[in-house]
Amino acid sequence: MIYLKTSSEITKMRKSCQIIGSLLDSLEGIIRPGVNTLELDEYTEDFIRSRGGKPSFKGYQIPGLKPFPGSICASVNSAIVHGIPRRDLILKEGDIIGIDVGVELDGYHGDAARTYRVGSVTDEADKLLKVTNESLYLGIAAARAGNRVGDISHAIGAYVASMGYFVADNLTGHGVGRHLHEEPQIPNSGTAGRGPRIAAGMTFAIEPMVNIGTSSVKEKGWEFHVADNSLSAHYEHTILITDGDPEILTIA
Ligand code: MG
Repeated sequence: MIYLKTSSEITKMRKSCQIIGSLLDSLEGIIRPGVNTLELDEYTEDFIRSRGGKPSFKGYQIPGLKPFPGSICASVNSAIVHGIPRRDLILKEGDIIGIDVGVELDGYHGDAARTYRVGSVTDEADKLLKVTNESLYLGIAAARAGNRVGDISHAIGAYVASMGYFVADNLTGHGVGRHLHEEPQIPNSGTAGRGPRIAAGMTFAIEPMVNIGTSSVKEKGWEFHVADNSLSAHYEHTILITDGDPEILTIA
């Protein structure tokens, strides 16, 4: 079932989500050539805990894999999502890095991601980031009470395809709040007018993952990579469905 959040639950979610928004902003000043992804993870964990939160991803379990070790997912270049932070993964000029982070505060989770440019990047990478972020905002604009989840999926997927890119297969957004992952699944492509009806009080994590060369993914343990090693970008916000415009919660 899809949980409708009460106003007191939404108040709690605002707080966890604001930590994420300010964290993602502060990382803009920290991500640069020479930094390794474990340093970004340590910075993030300190940032979250010093504000009273807990990193939602750390220790996250799925069958068949060791608990996720990081507070962030750090996915560089052709890594799509779920990149494990590592001391020996050192950022270099021209890389792109997706940082995905979840925060739990007072029992409620938020979830968001942003892809960062390391120094100056190619025009191709720059365009991928712009298109992926634009597709997120088109998805958010479709997340209105009375619409259906397929309207979000269609808004994202149709735009990405029109730009000649590919949404990654089988990786979706989701409900969020009492748990890091709740119903409904929110695919990044689909048919308008299909799927569950959207209602005020729902809270969604919408998260397009967009590849340059192919929709195909390959799994390496936790990590998902683009099958042809082309670049991939990822942007995500946690939003609240209202009776009017959707409200983005993961903005500082
Ligand atoms: Mg998510």
